[in-house]
Order: sequence, then C-alpha cells, then structure tokens
Amino acid sequence: MKNIFTRQNAPTIKLASSYLIIIMVMSIISSLVFYSTSARELSRKPDAEYYSQTNFKDPDHELDEWLGRRANAGRDSLLINLLAINGVVLLGGSVFSYGLACRTLKPIEEAMQVQSRFIADASHELRTPLTAILLSNEMALRRKQLSSNDARNVILQNIEDINRLKTLSDELLDLTDVSHANPQLVATGVQDIVNAAVDRVRASADEKKIKIDIRTEKFAVRTDKQMLEKILVILLDNAIKYSQEGGSISIFTEHSGEHVLLHVQDHGPGIRKEDMPHIFDRFYRANDLRSQVEGHGLGLAIAKQIADDLHCVINVDSVYESGSIFTVKLPAR
Ligand code: ADP
Repeated sequence: MKNIFTRQNAPTIKLASSYLIIIMVMSIISSLVFYSTSARELSRKPDAEYYSQTNFKDPDHELDEWLGRRANAGRDSLLINLLAINGVVLLGGSVFSYGLACRTLKPIEEAMQVQSRFIADASHELRTPLTAILLSNEMALRRKQLSSNDARNVILQNIEDINRLKTLSDELLDLTDVSHANPQLVATGVQDIVNAAVDRVRASADEKKIKIDIRTEKFAVRTDKQMLEKILVILLDNAIKYSQEGGSISIFTEHSGEHVLLHVQDHGPGIRKEDMPHIFDRFYRANDLRSQVEGHGLGLAIAKQIADDLHCVINVDSVYESGSIFTVKLPAR
C-alpha cells in the first residue's frame, strides 16, 4: 500500500487533519446535544395526573424503579450507539477529508509545478550567456599577452552576450507584466494599430531589406490599443527574424461574422507539424531553427497571454519550408 505519510504529502495531511477536526467537532457536538435531550426524555417519570387518570396506584414505587432501570439501560445503549456512530464518522471522515484535501491542493500543486519549471527554464536560459561571458574573460586573462585587438574582440563578445541577457530579462519582465495587465477595451480603428506596430519594427525590417506589405481596411474593433500593438510587434518581429534577407511579409485584415481577422504572413522556413502545438509554450523553440535564429522562445507565449487577456485568439497556419500565417481573431466593435 502506498505510504501517504511522506514529507511531500505533509501539506495534504495537515489540511486533511483540519477538515477532520471540523467534521469531528460537529459530530461530537451534535451527539452531545442528541444524548442530553434523549437522556432527559428517558428519565422523565409519568406525572401525578397520569396516575390519577388511570386510577393506577404504585405505593411501593415498583413502576418508578422499573422505569428508572429502563431509562438507565436506554441511556447506556444510546451512548454506545453514539460512540459507534462517531467511530464510523471518524473513519469515513478521514477518507473524505484526505480526498477533499487532495482535490483542494491539486490546482495549487499544478501552479507550483508550472512555476518551478518556469524558474528552471529561465535559469537555464540565463546560464548560457553568463557561461559564455565567464569563459571568454577567463581565457583572455590566462593569455600571457593580450593585444588591444584581442581585448576589443573579448569586449565585443561580452557586449553581445550582455545584450542577449538584457533581451531575456526584458521578455521575462514582459511576461510578468502582462499577467497583471488590466486591459482598457475601447472601440478603435485597426489600421492605426497596424501602422503603429509596423513603425516599431521598420528598422529591423530595413536592416534585412525585408518589404512589409500593409493591406488593411478601415475595420473597427473593441480592444486595448497598446496590448494589441504588442501582439502585432511580436508577430512582425518573428516574421522578420525568420525570413530570408530581401524577403517580404504582409499584414492584412478580413471581416468574418462578428470578428475582424488580422493576418501576419511570411515566406520564411514555416513550422513543422510536430512543433505547431508547442510554439506558444514558454521557452519552446523548434529544433531546426534554434541554432540559426536568436531567441528564447518567449515571444509567442507573451503574445498568447496578452490575447487571452483581450479575449481574442491567435492561430497559426504554416507550411513547412514555405511560410506561416499568424492570425489574430478580434471581436468587431
Ligand atoms: P523565439 O522566436 O524567441 O524563439 P517565440 O516564442 O517567438 O520565440 O517563437 C517560438 C518558436 O516558434 C520559434 O522558436 C520558432 O521555432 C517558431 N516560430 C515563431 N514564429 C515563426 C515564424 N514566423 N516562422 C517560423 N517559425 C516561427
């Protein structure tokens, strides 16, 4: 049989004990009340009026004695029954309390597991650039002679790694910021938000000579401007990051029933079928792109969290080695 009295199970046992104490206190109090009222009833003697109405005489008080003995026996058997019932309540209550404690603690345990996995992943991501900085500095120090050119290269490498660390810490902060965000939903034109997002990624697109084709219509949506802009910046950033130099990406809108669809399309490497279900998970990166493109696997997790807060949905449609379309489905105004 599985031993439940382990160190890891201590919080469940503690909570189960608290539940059991509550159950037992209630059971004992109700048993005491029941016992005292029943015992009082059992000890009650027939009153004088009863004797006079029935013409019954009991000069030697034999009936009184007999009734007294019956009351005592009744009280004893009531006490035994109540003790037995409380024993059953104790056993059943223990099982019930343990089950209830497991149920109560399950979501908390799951949240804690997610949290510790997140901390482990974040530490792992932080360790890579930190180790690189440490190694390059140690190796430079070990050299007998270090030319100013070598020193310069080490410093440049350090700056690159520090920038990587900064991006990671910014993304980690974004992730915690968006989880406390309070969206201000207002009716707003989708074109303005698209233009603002494109302006923010224009420099990196120009650097890779990537053309951004904007085909948006004057649809109105009900959303938080800044939060939607953030989602679009993440999708556009990825489209640029994963496209070849000199490629093109497009952003276009579509009206579908009660919704406005915002599409960000690229002609980059696409996403393998087996990666599709995981790309919105924190720290997930497709293996084939891991070594080619810089990143920490947090962008889409942040975009998804914002989308959840805005009650909108992000979908992806992709053909491996042909390109991807990310779609944000927003409620029309
Ligand atoms: P990052 O880009 O920093 O790795 P993301 O969370 O933004 O993190 O993306 C997670 C993964 O999804 C990426 O590592 C990549 O494998 C895949 N991905 C995202 N956007 C694209 C895209 N436009 N084209 C191809 N793959 C993509």
